[in-house]
Amino acid sequence: MKNIVLFGPPGSGKGTQAGNLVKKFDFVHLSTGEMFRFNMREETELGVLAKEYIAKGELVPDEVTTKMLRAEVINNKTAKGLLFDGYPRTTEQAKDLDEILKQELNEEIDLCLALVVEDEILVQRLLKRGETSNRDDDQNEGIIRNRIAEYYKKTNEVSQHYRGQNKWVEINGEGEIDEITQSLIGEIEKL
Ligand code: ADP
Repeated sequence: MKNIVLFGPPGSGKGTQAGNLVKKFDFVHLSTGEMFRFNMREETELGVLAKEYIAKGELVPDEVTTKMLRAEVINNKTAKGLLFDGYPRTTEQAKDLDEILKQELNEEIDLCLALVVEDEILVQRLLKRGETSNRDDDQNEGIIRNRIAEYYKKTNEVSQHYRGQNKWVEINGEGEIDEITQSLIGEIEKL
């Protein structure tokens, strides 16, 4: 089994690239953002809670997010591979993910692929996505900038966790979608 984290700030293309990678490798895509949006649409208790944070561009508390993620890992024990998109987003979550994989699957993260994109490009991409998606958190520049601020405050430091484990690889996320996919595929094939 291969376990890969796709990492990067909001708007760096994680969702798009994750879609391409799971098609290529037949992995299971575990996106915490998608899980929250599903719960918000269904108006579950979890969805109602998550919405309070997401609407402001803040992270949902670790405890809530990790509980949801653990359940999805348990549901996918027989997968060929797991591709984590949007998790971990804090150092606490990175430690929890190591523990969950060890405890539930006797596995570990093999690689963290980080998409690197300049901040102003992120803002422009998210505003553009907001024109066609019905994601409320993409409609407002203030919320978008707060998500990027949260990234630098809480998420960026996750790089230290994977650097320390020699699992950190950066990929330029500003080129053509297909070129970026090919670079990511190349790194996964080295495993
Ligand atoms: P983006 O990468 O564009 O911000 P996502 O779909 O990954 O979009 O996430 C949307 C929102 O869901 C985030 O802004 C955050 O509020 C919440 N969220 C997603 N994943 C996590 C996580 N691992 N921890 C805390 N909050 C999360």
